[in-house]
Amino acid sequence: MRILKGSAIFAILCAGAACAQQAPADADLGFTDTPMLPGQKWHVHDSGRPYPPVVTPANVPGTPPPSDATVLFDGKDLSKWAQAGRGVDAGKLVEPKWTVENGYFEIAPHSGDLATREKFGDCQLHIEWSEPPDVTGSSQSRGNSGVKMMDRYEIQVLDPWNNPTYADGMAGAIYGAWPPLVNPGRKPGEWNVYDIVFKAPVFDGSKLVTPAYLTLLFNGVLVHDHQQILGRTAYREVAQYAPHGPEEPLGLQDHGYKVRFRNVWIRRLKGYDQAK
Ligand code: MG
Repeated sequence: MRILKGSAIFAILCAGAACAQQAPADADLGFTDTPMLPGQKWHVHDSGRPYPPVVTPANVPGTPPPSDATVLFDGKDLSKWAQAGRGVDAGKLVEPKWTVENGYFEIAPHSGDLATREKFGDCQLHIEWSEPPDVTGSSQSRGNSGVKMMDRYEIQVLDPWNNPTYADGMAGAIYGAWPPLVNPGRKPGEWNVYDIVFKAPVFDGSKLVTPAYLTLLFNGVLVHDHQQILGRTAYREVAQYAPHGPEEPLGLQDHGYKVRFRNVWIRRLKGYDQAK
């Protein structure tokens, strides 16, 4: 089941002619009417794009942070995070509605994204996440969340286990652009690890000077190797850049599912011979 391509899965799910007219909303397996990705032979969220091979994970979740890391979540509280206020609190940052228990925090569905109170540019980020053990939905509707570098460049978080979807939207994808090189995802209820090296884009006024680049180890396995980011994450469109500051908050996406996170830490990247 895990290695079948989207079209094959769709054929299984939708054998009848009526079903073929319109896939169920939770069986969104991609598109061919979206723009072509620049420099690639695939459409955005291309339903024909091949799935990367499944491999076994390589690391052990729960490893403590290095001594020079900024710990963003130590298992106890969300004091380093905020949410955008709503209603009478619109325009303000408010205390997160997401819940903390047993050393992890969990999305409060439809309460809104989380963002760090501190801003970051070039960085190394470690974050562990776990899919809801009670599996519901499929494709993009199964445990969807995301790690949003600079609150706009999303690495997809999604159930990676027996969950066909379009390749550039699966767990570990730079959403809407690049699938992971391989799929080392763990089962729902188990802890996955993202270790990210991120180089922020550079702007000169409104002009992009250098795009962002991202390296990702997913459960200890390289899935993006200094990959160029096309722009701010978009759905069914080619991502475009819009100027922003050299540092921005780290974001976590609320897509309406009870995904859990723990052991979150970040290190600002400095060049050689720049100890301070
Ligand atoms: Mg997402």
